[in-house]
Amino acid sequence: MRRLPVYFLIDVSESMVGDQMPYVEEGIASIIKDLRSDPYALETAWISIIVFAGKTKRIVPLTELTSFYPPRMPVGGGTSLGEALEFLMHDIDTNVVRSTADTKGDWKPIIFLFTDGAPTDNPEAAITKWINQYKKKASIVAIALGDNTDTNLLGRLTNDVLLVKNLAPESYKSFFKWVTASIKTTSMSIAENNLDGPQLAKLDEAVLTKVEPAASSVPQVIDNNFAVFLSKCQATKKPYLIKYKRNIKPSNIEGLALDTQFFKLQGSFPVDETYFQLTDNQPTNQKISSAELVGFPHCPCCGNQYGFSTCACGGIMCTGDEEVSTCPWCNTQAKFGFASGHQDINRSRG
Ligand SMILES: [Zn+2]
Ligand SMILES: [Zn+2]
Repeated sequence: MRRLPVYFLIDVSESMVGDQMPYVEEGIASIIKDLRSDPYALETAWISIIVFAGKTKRIVPLTELTSFYPPRMPVGGGTSLGEALEFLMHDIDTNVVRSTADTKGDWKPIIFLFTDGAPTDNPEAAITKWINQYKKKASIVAIALGDNTDTNLLGRLTNDVLLVKNLAPESYKSFFKWVTASIKTTSMSIAENNLDGPQLAKLDEAVLTKVEPAASSVPQVIDNNFAVFLSKCQATKKPYLIKYKRNIKPSNIEGLALDTQFFKLQGSFPVDETYFQLTDNQPTNQKISSAELVGFPHCPCCGNQYGFSTCACGGIMCTGDEEVSTCPWCNTQAKFGFASGHQDINRSRG
């Protein structure tokens, strides 16, 4: 039996934490459920899920639909697209059966690449390798989640770059339906016409737009739409992320470009230890003055009132009513009431 290998290569960087990740998890689950009732897909499609942030991890190896169990998505820091592509190419080499003179191997793999940002590593070598050695024998469908994505770069990997503009729950649903339909049409065209290569379903332009290849390959300048901080709970020692979304406050003085940016709290979200496995150790360069932050979180792990207290070591932690706090990063004990960043944060609350 010749398989149709379908890879989901999913960006699980910090900007996906919060609202978005549950949509992706539900989306994957609905794809599997739907495909299981499709005779063509059931016969040929094998699914694998590889996630990447600063580091890459395969969370499901190529698996037939009947034994596929939709996983929980982890989160990590960074967006190492180059490393993710290297990982993917290695996985294709290792797990996709190649045709030989005597036997037909697997069908051409389809890779659905979901990403919402720009790489934090240098992906040049991996992109060149993909173009020279893999572009003909595997097909990437790149899906940019939101217009914060470097679509010029994705356009070098594939002619199929699609943009999901509106990241509302409903558009996620129709977008995952489109992915499902594309896998169905591809497996049908294999079964009926013996035709290799992806057959993408018709686009619903309200949800997905095709991005035309850019004339130049000048890298786009990507603004950071989010500011995310890693914190640890003092009581449980567990990590959590504090996520802010960027907003612009327009200047009300006419003719002056004095728009100011600020970051509004979206929430605080517990993460598990896989966060550290998926995070590279590069510094983030995200220095944001607390004056730019609007709203401060509680601790999602223990409920402490102040989820964003800064220790002298630079670590962020939660504090509550306790007399003396112990930093879960450096174990230093300190009275927090009026110390360091805490006061700053309190002041901004008012
Ligand atoms: Zn806590
Ligand atoms: Zn500390």
